Amino acid sequence: MSKNLKPICLLIITMALGLLSGCQKNVDTANRTEEILGTIITGTVYGAMTEAELSAALDSAFLRAVELENIFSAKTSDSELTKVNETAYTAPVRISDELYLVLERSLYYAELSNGAFDPTLGKLITLWGIGTETAAIPAADSLSAYINRHNYKNVILNEDDQSVAFINDEFSLDLGAIAKGYVADEMKRILVEEYGIESALLNLGGNVITIGSKTDGSPWNIGIADPDEPTSSIVSIQITNQTVVTSGNYERYIEEDGVRYHHIIDGGTGYPANNGLVSTTIITDKSIDADALSTATYVLGLDASMELIESLDNVEAIFITDEGEILTTSGISEKVKVLSGE
Ligand code: FAD
Ligand code: MG
Repeated sequence: MSKNLKPICLLIITMALGLLSGCQKNVDTANRTEEILGTIITGTVYGAMTEAELSAALDSAFLRAVELENIFSAKTSDSELTKVNETAYTAPVRISDELYLVLERSLYYAELSNGAFDPTLGKLITLWGIGTETAAIPAADSLSAYINRHNYKNVILNEDDQSVAFINDEFSLDLGAIAKGYVADEMKRILVEEYGIESALLNLGGNVITIGSKTDGSPWNIGIADPDEPTSSIVSIQITNQTVVTSGNYERYIEEDGVRYHHIIDGGTGYPANNGLVSTTIITDKSIDADALSTATYVLGLDASMELIESLDNVEAIFITDEGEILTTSGISEKVKVLSGE
């Protein structure tokens, strides 16, 4: 190599190294775990920022979850939803943007699923109390006093004054099957829009949402719990920037005489849904949609759910039947890996 070329080569190598280190930057990470919404929320964010900056991003996202819990909780006496439940049958109640949006989506999914997902099952859900210390199989006469009183068509939203009114006092709202999804979307929005996070994984008690891909550019691998052994995964699915939400009969339940009574109620019977599915997973972009659809499909059963999900754009599903069969919609079969159970 001539003397003149040597410095040029060195310069090129130095520039290349500079570019390489520019590409790789120093990727740091921050983690958080908190109990909010009666479930464990974990968050991990990655980025070319300091750990303090990443922590500040997580602080804001978790703070938003607490803020939203105070709006949507059916379990606390001072939430916005509780106030609506106490007064909306007497006169229309003006509500927050967040509650209006989630109620609107709830009524949309109630209609789409022909009432399989129904936000007006609050009184029946409280009667069963699954997931609380007072959970018990209701006596036949108390069950019949609550059955067929719910009806999502009796919730009237008025866009002009952003209010909600109930047609009667025979039902109450419970948003436990959809609000967690909205909280996940909001946590993601804050991380992306306010902090520029490009890679993150949030898990809200089985309701997973991702930002971008892993820092090496590969997709996230999300495990879906084995209904027979929920601490291990039966299926894994690869996703990028999407959400994976599962409803299962193993999440919250009581057992009596060998029968499991879980927390997803079939409004038609007043009993926990028993239509052949034990786990339903929805994969799509928005967690609010995935959450509502995971519950709706659980109640609908396999055939109606396959038909419903195949009719929706950009929504996929994995169903596990009570026989242990694992079925997927057509758009994701290649991204799903069965780990055991076959
Ligand atoms: P999903 O299938 O998504 O939802 C099932 C839940 O939706 C049921 O528990 C019931 O509430 C409701 N539901 C049942 N059947 C239907 C149906 N057919 N249609 C529509 N809805 C139905 N849990 C606690 O133990 N303590 C708390 O303090 C607490 N606070 C919460 C506050 C908020 C704002 C939210 C959203 C939830 C809270 N939860 C609490 C409940 C908990 O976090 C989960 O929402 C619940 O366990 C159900 O979530 P899932 O994903 O397992 O099931
Ligand atoms: Mg749900």
